[in-house]
Formats: sequence, structure tokens, C-alpha cells
Amino acid sequence: SIRNIEKIWLDGELKSNEDAVVHCATNTLHYGLGVFEGIRSYSDGENSYIFRLDEHVKRLFDSALIMNITIPYTHDEVKRAIEDTIVANNLKEAYIKPMVYLGSESLSLDTREHTVHLMVIAWSAYNYASNGAQGIKMNVSSFTRHHVNIAMTKAKANGNYMNSQLALREAKNAGVDDVFLLDSDGYVSEATGANVFMVSNGVLYTPELANCLNGLTRQTVMQLAKDAGIEVVSKRITRDELYIADEVFITGTAAEILPVCEIDNRTVGKGCVGELTQSFINDYQLMVRAKLPNYTRWNYKLNIL
Ligand code: PMP
Repeated sequence: SIRNIEKIWLDGELKSNEDAVVHCATNTLHYGLGVFEGIRSYSDGENSYIFRLDEHVKRLFDSALIMNITIPYTHDEVKRAIEDTIVANNLKEAYIKPMVYLGSESLSLDTREHTVHLMVIAWSAYNYASNGAQGIKMNVSSFTRHHVNIAMTKAKANGNYMNSQLALREAKNAGVDDVFLLDSDGYVSEATGANVFMVSNGVLYTPELANCLNGLTRQTVMQLAKDAGIEVVSKRITRDELYIADEVFITGTAAEILPVCEIDNRTVGKGCVGELTQSFINDYQLMVRAKLPNYTRWNYKLNIL
């Protein structure tokens, strides 16, 4: 668990759990201006591979640019830090979270002079929903997803997740696994930490990127579908379109591909894992372990494990 992590990468050094600490006046802790990534590595029994490492690191730098934060490392240095953290903790399969945050120079809202720091935490498990394989239950949230000009949703920014946390707590208290957040116009945006897909009449639909994160799992599934000759359409989607879809699933690095079998107390499709959803799940599990020959460019092999 995250409590007994051996080593945490902090500002260029691998430190013990006790030594990897931040100051109480850490600006990001107070106001949430920081950026992070969620990355995963998988083992095929012999080797370990980080899935789409380059794209995750690129998105970390994009998030920082959006938030006007200059990361004091190169793309390659961040990759190296991620790799070193996994190896130092001897993790065959890992969830990895690099986080860029502002220092403790002041608790001012003016952050132009703050130092910028990087931590990398890696641990062994991340369970988005416990009963995932059989399909999860979701509601539509009472909370609205960020308006694009309130929180810029292309950035994976710390503060953006307050909205997700409030929505998820409400969901769990209502007895469902996750929720769909609607955008400020009332269209489906995303789940608390995952993108949304639906299948109708053999066509794969997903909300356009207007106000959701440009998920790498979303991109992966779209590519898989295109390569399988399935029509893929990004468009505005309403909650009732989800109710009457043949299949619904959500995607994310932590969630992977999770079938959704019930929405707002309505059974989706046949009420169990849809055929297309199951085939994406099967392909994805092979792909992340470097077992799909056409996609091994996305498997970054770790050197030591
Ligand atoms: N939307 C949100 C809000 C997320 O936090 C995530 C998880 N990073 C996703 C979508 C899915 O993105 P990815 O597939 O890149 O993990």
C-alpha cells in the first residue's frame, strides 16, 4: 500500500518514506496550483513495461505549460525519474504518480517567484472500482464538470480534482461506483477520473474533447477501434443517449476499461458486459503487456526488473 512505500523520488533524490517530506507552507498544498500524471507499468511475467510513457510525460509538460509552471527538468529527466522510482521500489506492476508543485517561498497567490518541485511516487496497486470486471453502476452527478474557462480541463491539474472528489463522495454515499459529470451545457463530459464511451448500432461514440481530459486510454481505445474497422464518432452526448446505448464503458489509466451496466437505476443494454466492450478489454490487457505486435511502440521496457 501507499503507507509502506520504500523510496520516493523528490527533487532529484530517492528518499525514504520518512525523509520525503514537504513544508507546511507548500503553496500547492494551500491553493491547488500544481500538475500531475497517472501512469502504469505492467509485467508479462518476465519483463515490465510502462504504457505510453512518452505521451504521459508530454501531457505532464503540457499541463505545466497551461498552468504557467516551468518544470526544472527535461522530458528525458522526468522519464528517468519515473523509471528509477519503479526500480528502486522493485515494482513489477506499478501505478506511478509524478507531481509538479510550487514551493514554500510564500503563501501568496502571486506565484511568479516560486520554486518548482517534482516528486514521483510509485506503488503496487490502484483499484478504480472493486467489482469492475462484472460491470459497474453509475449515476449522473449533481455536480457540474468544470467550465473550460474556470479550470482549463486539458491540464491534469491538482485543483481540478476537488470537483471529482466531491462528486465521487456523493456517488459512493448513493451506493454507486462512479458518476458521469455533465458539462455546463448539460452534455456528458467524463467520469471522476475516466473518459466515457458508448456503443450504439455498432458505432463507437465518445464525448468530444471540449471539456474533458484528453485521456490516453481514450486515444488507445479509439485507435484500437479504428484499426478494427469500427466507426468512431466524437460528439456531444446526452444522459438519455447513455441510457439507451447498447454498451457503455469508461476508460482511464487506473480504470483501464470498465463496463457500465447500470446508469441512474436503468439497465444498460443487456445489463452485462457488452461484446465490443469485452473485446476492447481483452485487447487492452494484452497490449499493455507488450503482447499485441502492432502496438509495442507504446510499451516502454524497464531495464532492471
Ligand atoms: N479524465 C479524468 C478527469 C482523469 O483524471 C483521467 C485519468 N487520468 C482520465 C480522464 C483518463 O485519462 P488517461 O486515460 O490518460 O488516464
